[in-house]
Amino acid sequence: MEKIYLDNASTTCLIPEVIEVMTDVLKNTYGNPSSTHAFGRSAKVLVETARKSIAKQINAQATEIVFTSCGTEGDNWVLSAAVNDLNVTRIITTKIEHHAVLHTLEILKLKNPELEIVYLDLNQNGNINHNQLQNLLEASDKKTLVSLMHVNNEIGTVLNLKKVGELCAYNNAYFHSDTVQSVGKEIIDVQSFNIDFLVASAHKFHGPKGVGFIYLKKNTIIQPLIHGGEQEKGLRAGTEAVHQIVAMAKALEIANQNLENYKNQISELKNYAITSLKTAFPDLKINGGEQAFYNILNIVLPVSADKTAMILFYLDMQGIAVSRGSACQSGSIKPSHVLAEILSPTDLLLPSLRISFSHFNTKSEIDYLVKTLKNM
Ligand code: PLP
Repeated sequence: MEKIYLDNASTTCLIPEVIEVMTDVLKNTYGNPSSTHAFGRSAKVLVETARKSIAKQINAQATEIVFTSCGTEGDNWVLSAAVNDLNVTRIITTKIEHHAVLHTLEILKLKNPELEIVYLDLNQNGNINHNQLQNLLEASDKKTLVSLMHVNNEIGTVLNLKKVGELCAYNNAYFHSDTVQSVGKEIIDVQSFNIDFLVASAHKFHGPKGVGFIYLKKNTIIQPLIHGGEQEKGLRAGTEAVHQIVAMAKALEIANQNLENYKNQISELKNYAITSLKTAFPDLKINGGEQAFYNILNIVLPVSADKTAMILFYLDMQGIAVSRGSACQSGSIKPSHVLAEILSPTDLLLPSLRISFSHFNTKSEIDYLVKTLKNM
C-alpha cells in the first residue's frame, strides 16, 4: 500500500541535510553553551552562529532572535508579556487564531478581568476588515496589542502584514503575528513592514520538533516566561538545545534558498489537486477560498454527512494522511473552531478535509487521493 503524507501544515519531515547537522552536533558538540571551557565555548559558537543565520533570513539583528521550545511557547510568551510587562489593556485578534493564542487569551482574561479582548469580524474566507481594525485602533486610547496570524493553519487565509503593521504603527499599537505557518514558506523581511513580535516553529519548515524562535523588536523590554539561568541574555532560561537550534537554522536557510522553486512546485500541485477534485466532485467547496495560502487546501466534500465521522479513518486505512480540521471527541464530531466561524451550519456537518502539501508530494499522490475519495 502506498503511504502518502498530505498533512504538512501539522508537521513536516526532516530533510537529510538537517539530520546531518543535527547528528553531528549531538555526536561532537555536546558541551553546555553556558560553560566557559572549550567544550562549552564550541557549543556557544554554534548557538550564536545559528542565531545570526536566522536573523539574516528575516533581515533582523541577531539580538532580536530568542530561541524557544516551539510556536506555542512563543505565542504564550508574547501575549503574557504584552499584558504583564508592556501595560497592554486591550488585545485585538480573531476567533480563528491558533489555540496557542486563543487559550492564552482566555487565561489572561481570567487573571486580568479588566483586559479587553476584541475579536474582529471575518468574511466567509476568514479575512479581516481593515476598516474595522482602523476604526477600533482610532477609537480608543487603551494600550493595544494586535495579534493576528499571518497564515491560518486550517484554511490558509493570508493576512496583509504590511497593511496591519502600518495601522498599528500609526495608532501606536503593538503588533504580534503568529508566523508559524509562513516562516520558511514566504520571505519575511522585518525591515519591510512594522512588526514587534513574530513567532516561528522549526518543525513546520522541515526542521526538528521542540524548537522555535521569536523575533522581538529591538528595545522592546519584556520579562522571561521561563525563569532560571541566564541563557538567552536572561530572557529564556534553560540549557539551549544546541542540536535543534543548529538544525533549525539549517532548515530555514535551505527553505529560503529554495523558496521560489518549492513555491512554484507546490502551487502547481495545489492547482492540480483543485482541478482533479472538482472534476470528481463538481459541487466541492473550498474553505478559505481559492486565494488561500499555496500549501493549504481545505475542502468541503459534497457527500453524505454520515461520512464525516469516518473519513479520516478511511483515508488512513488507505495509507493517506490528511487532516479533517475537526476534533472527534468521544465519538461525536466537534467542528474545528475555525470552520465553525466561517461555514454555514449545513456545510459544517459535511466532511471537511485539510490537505497540506510539501515539495515532496507528487501529482500521482493526488491522483491516488482523488481516486480513494471517489471510492469512499
Ligand atoms: N501557531 C500555528 C499557526 C500553528 O499552526 C501551530 C502548530 O500547529 C502553532 C502555532 C504551534 O506550534 P508548535 O507546534 O511549534 O507549538
